[in-house]
Amino acid sequence: MGSFGLSWRCAMRALPMLRGRKAMRKQFGVLLAALFYYTGLIGLARWLQQRSGPRLIILNYHHASGEDLRRHLLYLRRHYRVLHLDEALTELYAPAERWATKRDKRALVALTFDDGYHDNYTHAFSLARELRMPITIFLIPGYVESGDYFWWGEGRRLVQRAGVAVVTLEGRTYRLDALEEKARLSQTIDARLRHASSIVEREAFLAQVRELLAVPGNVTVEEEKDRPMSWAEIQKMQESGWVSYGAHTMHHPILAYLSDPADLHYEVSECRKVLEQRLACPVRSLAYPVGRAEHIGEEVVQAVKDAGYAWAVTTYKGSNTPASDPYLLKRMLSDSSRNWLVMAAETSGIWDLLAPLWKAVIGKGEDVA
Ligand SMILES: [Zn+2]
Repeated sequence: MGSFGLSWRCAMRALPMLRGRKAMRKQFGVLLAALFYYTGLIGLARWLQQRSGPRLIILNYHHASGEDLRRHLLYLRRHYRVLHLDEALTELYAPAERWATKRDKRALVALTFDDGYHDNYTHAFSLARELRMPITIFLIPGYVESGDYFWWGEGRRLVQRAGVAVVTLEGRTYRLDALEEKARLSQTIDARLRHASSIVEREAFLAQVRELLAVPGNVTVEEEKDRPMSWAEIQKMQESGWVSYGAHTMHHPILAYLSDPADLHYEVSECRKVLEQRLACPVRSLAYPVGRAEHIGEEVVQAVKDAGYAWAVTTYKGSNTPASDPYLLKRMLSDSSRNWLVMAAETSGIWDLLAPLWKAVIGKGEDVA
């Protein structure tokens, strides 16, 4: 009876985890990844990946305070050659003969963190030092300078912390004691910020919303990890040798939405200039803000080339070979709170290997990844 009681309590506790399709899909993904890992399929996929020639997997993290980051790093250290991004890219594009003579032919991995959240300092830095693993962080100098919250989290944060019960924004009134209204207001703010055609317009709108919502100025413990790191923290990390930096534009606009080409060039080139001054070393790579295909047109890529960068990373999903376009490098989105087995499955490329089989079983039009 005792053990029945215990398992019943465990099941009850597990129930909320199983609620909702998203949670179930997540659980299923972990189970599948565990099955692949413990049957040796992930090891086999990694072996095939290694035999296919030089390859670079660039992982794309944001926050570092998720509970599974240590396991991610331990796994990657064991099965890949983890390098700073610039080193890894230099090696990827080196003449083929050099790779042929390499003894260690494990695929290359670069760990990248976008935006420069404060928990990169409090969590990723200590892990990188302890495990002796290099990481690369893409910085936004305008935010480091101001210490402001990043714009993409402001819709949710401002509405959550509003000091008023009713607000009228752009002719529409929202009652903030109703959850649906709150969500709608948050979405409206996000959409305006996302589609801003200049930094001036975006910041003016943000100032207006902050005032309307009367948000208190104090910072909660929960909010602390969402703030940017300071220059002092950035320099301390750099001195350790385990952290390198890339550019993520001056203020993180979606570059394709900027209406003035001068703004596009400023965001990209000024970022490199400021970072090189602050860090006293060359800055050769850039991560496009919200780097999806629809946000990276020809003018954007040209601006990055004109500013003197050697490489640029997107959020297009996949890994890179010497044939990859150096200004449209692919990354794999990762998350420090995601189970390490799922990350292991994704980096091994097993989904790509199984895709034809999967399609044959469940029919066309379905995508496993
Ligand atoms: Zn970003």
